[in-house]
Amino acid sequence: MHIFFDFCAVMHPKIIVTIDGLSSCGKSTLARQLAKKLGYLYIDSGAMYRAITLYFLRNNVNYENVKEVKEALKNIHISFDVNPHHLHSEIYLNGENVEYIIRDIVVAEKVSEVAAIGEVRTFAVAAQKKMGENKGIVMDGRDIGTTVFPKAEVKIYMIADEAVRVERRFAEMYEKNPNITIDEVKANIARRDYIDSNREISPLRKADDAIVLDNTRLTQKEQLEFALNLVKKQMQPA
Ligand code: C5P
Repeated sequence: MHIFFDFCAVMHPKIIVTIDGLSSCGKSTLARQLAKKLGYLYIDSGAMYRAITLYFLRNNVNYENVKEVKEALKNIHISFDVNPHHLHSEIYLNGENVEYIIRDIVVAEKVSEVAAIGEVRTFAVAAQKKMGENKGIVMDGRDIGTTVFPKAEVKIYMIADEAVRVERRFAEMYEKNPNITIDEVKANIARRDYIDSNREISPLRKADDAIVLDNTRLTQKEQLEFALNLVKKQMQPA
């Protein structure tokens, strides 16, 4: 089956795969592994909103002031580059690698407010659409299947129980910051989910044609198999 799949993936015209869902569902893990398997580009759209937030924080941008936001966005350049050590794509803000610093709780506390700003979304979505111009991309986020690539060939909507999501994110953050508490992580996830699901522009929601993947009890291998099967079905001749 895998040889047939690999053959299809190489021979088939490139497609777009979108992965959306609440915070800490494991979207990036799946997206990265899927992209690797398909030989596609992986883009973490959440990292873009985090990098913009980092810029705003560092430069004291008052993001309630539209004029300031517009001016600040003119000075932001975001790019991705593959790290040769582990071959993961990492995000750069004006030439600086910010892949790790953007995961800090200080950024996480503000990112959903920044991501709800219309000008910020227009800026990020335009860049995301451009990255998908040649297809062959797996992108994860909140509005990728609904707004960024509404015509994507494969759309996945990931869900997982709240307790599991909190545990996973806590383990990840604790590694970098042992002072963090599980309550802080839980509150941050709940707040972000609330803002992301209730904002006016492109709120998080499942695209009508997205397939739900509940990974509460799945291993990484199992969820990758699930996603690969969806891609395979799409690539098989009718
Ligand atoms: O995916 P991650 O948790 O790193 O995303 C950080 C934040 O960026 C989310 O909580 C959300 O506010 C915002 N985001 C968004 N739209 C996306 C991706 C992320 O609004 N497509």
